[in-house]
Amino acid sequence: MTNTICITNCTLLTNVSAPLQKNAYLTVEGTRITEIGAMQHWQDSGTQTLIDAGGKLLMPGLINGHNHCAMTLFRGLADDLDLHTWLHDHIFPAEAAHISPDMVYWCTKLAAAEMILSGTTSVADGYFFSGRAAQALSDAGMRAVVAHGIIDFPVPSVPDPKKNIEAVQIFIDEWLDKTPRISPAVFAHAPYTCSPETLRKAKELADRTDVRFFTHIAESRAEQDIIIKPQGATPIRHLSELGILDQNCTCVHGVWLDEYDLEIFAASGAALVTCPQSNLKLASGIAPVQAMLDQVITVGLGTDGCASNNSLDMFREMDILAKIQKSASASATAMNAKDVLQCATSAGAAAIGLTDCGEIEVGKKADLILIDTATPRLSPFYNQNLLVYAASGSDVVTVIIDGKIVMHERQIRSFDLEEVYHQVGRFSDKLIAADRS
Ligand SMILES: [Zn+2]
Repeated sequence: MTNTICITNCTLLTNVSAPLQKNAYLTVEGTRITEIGAMQHWQDSGTQTLIDAGGKLLMPGLINGHNHCAMTLFRGLADDLDLHTWLHDHIFPAEAAHISPDMVYWCTKLAAAEMILSGTTSVADGYFFSGRAAQALSDAGMRAVVAHGIIDFPVPSVPDPKKNIEAVQIFIDEWLDKTPRISPAVFAHAPYTCSPETLRKAKELADRTDVRFFTHIAESRAEQDIIIKPQGATPIRHLSELGILDQNCTCVHGVWLDEYDLEIFAASGAALVTCPQSNLKLASGIAPVQAMLDQVITVGLGTDGCASNNSLDMFREMDILAKIQKSASASATAMNAKDVLQCATSAGAAAIGLTDCGEIEVGKKADLILIDTATPRLSPFYNQNLLVYAASGSDVVTVIIDGKIVMHERQIRSFDLEEVYHQVGRFSDKLIAADRS
């Protein structure tokens, strides 16, 4: 018998532009939304699970467009540093010493716990030992695009960089049709850590296997010099000349784009995921997101790995995105709350190649969150702008992904969080001991 859930007495936000519908109900059958309506028309037809929302807000789950989930082990290890120093002097050495298949599994699951508890239902991950990350996100009950990292130097998961493409091919073959919630993908780290040949091969692999291609691009001012000198082009023009920018490409960051870069980017159909807090913390700069929206570029929102944020709460991310765009353009009307919500929901889904989620509509995937608005910071709840400027991940009380309740009344149901703390503790103990020796 198909699993059915009915959420009654909710205030419904179907998409960012729709008016709030009070006293509504929503029915889920299997993995999809099958009915939406006003409570006066609701009839209980033997629903298996009935949730009386008691006026809480029901909205689409949030989409975290960029994360390195397993980096939960490195959160707080190195703060207050610029990108180059942070990455080369701290993160790359820590990764070389501490990454293992087991570490990736448990630390990714810890990230999943944080994301689920703050209303994220889908994530785009990019890291090493991607099979273990995919397994962790699958076991956690999340929807995920898991992109296998490619970089031109030895890493624990692929000690010989010449075998990069082969390793990703094996990962894609294993996960392509394994479970509908997990989509494998390719993540070429960046044009400054991947040669033109590696980038080209990685993109060819993504296109050939019909999976999404990701890369970090134009994150810091220093990257401009690193790329411009040998390639004679800005990072965006470099990717464009290699034939990489197209509708199957997601670029992450895009902080340092000039007007011509923006035109090329918009014409290519590529999507961008912006990570405002990571960019602010590493002093990388502020991406021209409002200008991208003006050029009708699809923009998603991501937290980046929590070691450079240091939070995976998308509500914090939305708030910061809106405010820094206003500040950077000296215009309070820039990056309005609805546009921000769009980046974190429907546009965010499109930016990472997900279809059928990010909006509430009959026939779409049942990826839903319930928010308690009966709190001092959300009362009175006039409109959805409060989700950007006042809400917090801790206001999320129930999370449904693919038609399954993975969190209810702030308790994760899909896995044992205590076990995750215990397992991650083993790795952090090792890290502390190594640091002291
Ligand atoms: Zn990143």
